[in-house]
Amino acid sequence: MKPAPFGYERPRDLQAALAVLSEADASKIIAGGQSLGPMLNLRLVEPELIVDISGLAELKQVERRGDELVLGACVTHADIEDGRIPDATRGAMQGVAGNIAYRAVRNRGTVGGSLSHADPAADWVSALSALGAKLTLRSLLGARTVTMQDFIVGALESALRAGEIVETIHVPVRPASAHWGYVKSCRKTGEFAHAIAAVLIDPSAATARIVIGAIDAAPIVITDAAELFGGRIAGDYKDRFDSRVADALLAKAGVSSAAHRHIHVSVLKRAVSEAAA
Ligand code: FAD
Repeated sequence: MKPAPFGYERPRDLQAALAVLSEADASKIIAGGQSLGPMLNLRLVEPELIVDISGLAELKQVERRGDELVLGACVTHADIEDGRIPDATRGAMQGVAGNIAYRAVRNRGTVGGSLSHADPAADWVSALSALGAKLTLRSLLGARTVTMQDFIVGALESALRAGEIVETIHVPVRPASAHWGYVKSCRKTGEFAHAIAAVLIDPSAATARIVIGAIDAAPIVITDAAELFGGRIAGDYKDRFDSRVADALLAKAGVSSAAHRHIHVSVLKRAVSEAAA
């Protein structure tokens, strides 16, 4: 199928893009087009106007600001995979980027587009939730900052308001003491995952952020994770991981199939082992 007819604007700068978005009700932003393109072709969306932000220099900037890395929304998966941005997460983001879909998708697909699309199976949705990222959303009215948890509201549902754009993604620098594990289960290489686990565990600080993704809803983000490790997070966390607690969390989150819960728990266990390795 081909898309329904639409108008097309390619604004010169961010301010112009925000102005166009504020005026056009039935508009849609396009960044890499890797999710929007198929949706247009299948006529799942039929916007009157497409606003192309892929050429906006402001959205491609990257800078280390204090203890965080600030990424423009139009940084591509390949930019991160190829190390064209500073490595603030000790390889964690680079590892995630290199395993998204295929190289052709990674060349065009952007971090901001992936988060805005809010597909539960998208890698950045889970990975950046575990890394504790925040987003700056901008409209003509001004900017606001939201956590990943507040941004991803549900499956394919974000907190973006009309006329708003994801401007930047703020990723905390990963301390040397924090261990990272990221595992996904896909039927074929390059396919969307049907289970994702992302863990950031700092035994010296006795803290952990555990994310279970690809569950047909916003990911499960566990910030108070001691319960998963027998009541305390310490150097022996891998041995203390309690699959029964993880299974109960998934059941509580509405994952009713025991087989699906088993896959999620196995993937989480592998991510914990990867972090400890
Ligand atoms: P677009 O397709 O341009 O836009 C997606 C949505 O976000 C649209 O609604 C658009 O209006 C909105 N949007 C875009 N940018 C912004 C912004 N800055 N502010 C506000 N709204 C915005 N992803 C994975 O994570 N893992 C995979 O394994 C995976 N496999 C894939 C396999 C294939 C074959 C394909 C085609 C895609 C796959 N993807 C996968 C998706 C890919 O990562 C896309 O890059 C991503 O979903 C969307 O990014 P984009 O820049 O192309 O956004």
